[in-house]
Amino acid sequence: MITDLIRELVIYGKKNGLICEADEVYATNRLLELFDVMEYEENPEITEPRAVCEILEDMMTYAHENGIMKEDTITAKDLFDTKIMGCITPPPSVVRAEFAKRYAESPKEATDYYYQFSQATNYIRKDRIAKDEKWVTDTEYGPIDITINLSKPEKDPRDIAKAGQAKKSGYPACLLCKENEGYAGHFSHPARQNHRVIPIKLDGQNYYLQYSPYVYYNEHCIIFNEQHIPMKIDYAVFRKLLDFVRQYPHYMAGSNADLPIVGGSILSHDHFQGGGYVFAMAKADYERKFVIPGFESVTAGIVKWPMSVIRLQGDDMEVMAKAADHILTSWRAYTDADAFIFSETDGVPHNTITPIARMHGDKLELDLVLRNNIQIELIAVGRLSSIGRPASYQERKYRSDRGYGTCGTSCTSEGRDGRIGQGDISRRGYPQESTD
Ligand SMILES: [Zn+2]
Repeated sequence: MITDLIRELVIYGKKNGLICEADEVYATNRLLELFDVMEYEENPEITEPRAVCEILEDMMTYAHENGIMKEDTITAKDLFDTKIMGCITPPPSVVRAEFAKRYAESPKEATDYYYQFSQATNYIRKDRIAKDEKWVTDTEYGPIDITINLSKPEKDPRDIAKAGQAKKSGYPACLLCKENEGYAGHFSHPARQNHRVIPIKLDGQNYYLQYSPYVYYNEHCIIFNEQHIPMKIDYAVFRKLLDFVRQYPHYMAGSNADLPIVGGSILSHDHFQGGGYVFAMAKADYERKFVIPGFESVTAGIVKWPMSVIRLQGDDMEVMAKAADHILTSWRAYTDADAFIFSETDGVPHNTITPIARMHGDKLELDLVLRNNIQIELIAVGRLSSIGRPASYQERKYRSDRGYGTCGTSCTSEGRDGRIGQGDISRRGYPQESTD
């Protein structure tokens, strides 16, 4: 019976701190409305709720059978079960006040509350995250974490078709914008009625804290700008990252680079990633130390790591950020043809930095990963091997991609039937199609 399921969900909400006694009747009535039920009698036998995904699954079966949920594709169900959870999720003012109250006790208490809350609302779908594969492997650089993300659901072809028909909307402008809080969503934008964000200040500027619904690592949070403005790695970012770890010393914070290929997936909205996890790189030691002239108070050195990483340690946020900016400026302009590093080609820049900040005891620590997004053009020489791939690559050169300022990959190869196929490799192995 749907009323029993409603009762079960309300009890779930109470047990998990989403609603209190005062909200009980109100939440029940909101759910009755959603399921188009006018009568209600409380079943006293329901006392222990099941896992939320099980309650929601049963509710959706009812909704589909009774024409309340029109379709039962993954996207349709994700939209509908989020709407259900919205009925028992407290408003932003309540969540923000609770977070602030706990932050006054300790930053960790505040994030513990908010992380538990984000799972209780099913914004973080624990049942899906459980599908991810994770393990640790020993390497010469120390134990390295390997994760395979399996929690993003496959798209149903019917959903793809629906998303294609949907009118393009600029609201919310992207998946990170603050306007997602409480948004109903549609076939090409996830529902967020159960989503709440926490306002924070970074170096005096307005940002918001939220968790990633996909939790790539423990307490994977996202810190995003109040405004929908593009990502840019600069002096101000170093200050903001350091300011974040000062305020949340149990979390690290980093930024994806601001160039394609070596950057993140959402370059259009200024944001950082943080969380309560010590990555393998953070455990790696200095390989050698050096002094940066003008920044003698900062401990600097190269990290023993398979990427080029410079680590800074110090006490003063200002000095640390200036030292990092000095490295960024130097690296952006750096060209070394012998090492195949070009700061730019045809006026398109290739060098940038992935910064990661954390507290190391009472010291501020900043890792700067030097990135270059140049791609190479592989020219196949020789005939195809039996599996249809070119037998060998004997020459390489760079070129600029006209669209993105990066270099694509292309190849001309002779297929088994003697046809000449172009750009075959680029489509298979790289995110961009060749423009040749
Ligand atoms: Zn945005």
